[in-house]
Amino acid sequence: MSNTRSELFKTGAPLPETFSQYFIGQAYLQQLTDKGGPIFNVTFEPGCRNNWHIHHKGGQILLCTEGRGWYQAWGEEPRELHPGDVVTIPPEVKHWHGASKDSWFAHLAVEIPVAGAANEWLESVDDAIYGKLK
Ligand code: MN
Repeated sequence: MSNTRSELFKTGAPLPETFSQYFIGQAYLQQLTDKGGPIFNVTFEPGCRNNWHIHHKGGQILLCTEGRGWYQAWGEEPRELHPGDVVTIPPEVKHWHGASKDSWFAHLAVEIPVAGAANEWLESVDDAIYGKLK
């Protein structure tokens, strides 16, 4: 397991319950700006990932900054993520993102500012899916 962290942006505080209930494992949240579209730094401990979810109307952009992680859209193969990778998540696409089993992972989450944008949280990522990922 890699315990060396670059921590490019502040890690922030453990996720509040309003979000952590939709995550497996521990993640941390730091809002970086609230001007324009809000930008958050999200840090996942090894093995941590969020539930399947949908960003309605606005969508989301992930800018990977640290470690090794995964993104998967419903019906697609999981995509391995490294620092410098960009993931553009269109609105209405069911997906999840998080760390790999053996590495911390961090990404900036850019929320596309659209009136009426909302997140819909769904089921957790099955161990049968996550457990197969390296
Ligand atoms: Mn998302």
